[in-house]
Amino acid sequence: MSQKRSKPLLRFAPSPNGRLHLGHAFSALYTWQAATALDGAALLRIEDIDSERCKPEFTAAIYEDLAWLGLDWPKPVMQQSERLDAYAEAGNALRDQQLLYPCFCSRTEIAALATHTDPDGAPLYPGTCRHLHRGEQIERLQRGDPVQFRLDNEAAQARAGLLTFSVVGPLVTDRPQIRYARPGRWGDVVLQRKGSPASYHLSVVVDDAAQAITHVTRGRDMEAATDLHILLQMLLGLPTPIYHFHRLILGDDGRKLAKSKGSPSLASLRADGWTPDDIRRAVGLPS
Ligand code: GLU
Repeated sequence: MSQKRSKPLLRFAPSPNGRLHLGHAFSALYTWQAATALDGAALLRIEDIDSERCKPEFTAAIYEDLAWLGLDWPKPVMQQSERLDAYAEAGNALRDQQLLYPCFCSRTEIAALATHTDPDGAPLYPGTCRHLHRGEQIERLQRGDPVQFRLDNEAAQARAGLLTFSVVGPLVTDRPQIRYARPGRWGDVVLQRKGSPASYHLSVVVDDAAQAITHVTRGRDMEAATDLHILLQMLLGLPTPIYHFHRLILGDDGRKLAKSKGSPSLASLRADGWTPDDIRRAVGLPS
C-alpha cells in the first residue's frame, strides 16, 4: 500500500517594517528554487504583528519587489495581523499547562540583574518574577501594571523531553541530519504582552503549522532561535518541519545586511538600473 506524502510546502515570511534588500532577495529566490527542487510550492506570509513598525505600504512594496524578481505565489496571502485569535488560543494552551507566568520587570531592571546573555547577545532574563506569589500576581494584574507573559523554560523542557529536529544542507533534496534542540539558552522568553497576543516565536510556529509548511528555509541568523520553535511545537502538539539555514548576504563591512543599517533596497537598485538577473548574480544564484 502506498503511503501518502504531503506536498512539500515552503514559505518566505518577511516583516513589512522597511523595504526589502539583497538579503531578502536571496532568501526569497533560494526558497522558490528549493521549492522547485523538491517539486513543491513556495508560499508568502506577511509577518506584520508588530503594528508599530509594520506598515501597509511596505507590504505593497514586498509584493511589488517579489513580482519584479519574477516570483509568484498562491493567493490569498496569510497575514499575521489577521490571525491574532489563533495566537491567543496557542498562548492559552500554554497557560493551561501552567507554562506562562506574568512578568512585571522593566528592561532596565533586567539589564541590571542579568548575569548571562542569550544567543543574540541580549540580557538573559534572570527569572525575577518566575516565583512571584499568586496573590501578588493578581494584585499587580488588577492594578494594571505593565505586564508580559514569559515561558517557564525549565518547566517547558521538563514537559517536552528530549527535542530533536531535522536539518538539511543546501541541497534540500539530500537526506536531512538529526540535531538536538537546546532551547534552554534562551531562558524565559516573552511570548505575550499586554495588548499583543503573540511574540514572533509564538506566531511563527502557529503559522508554519496552519500553512502545513514542510520545509523552513531561513537565514543562519535564525538558527539558534529555531531551538525555541521546536520546543513550542512540541508543547502545542504541532508538527516540526525540516529546516535549512541558508548563508547570509553580507555588506562591505562583513556584517549582515539590515534595513536599520541603511542597506540599499531592491527598489533603489531597480531605480539605478539593476535587472532581476543582476540581483541573482549579486547574491550568487544562477540567473
Ligand atoms: N519575519 C521574520 C523575518 O523577516 C521571518 C523569519 C523566519 O521565520 O524564517 O526575519
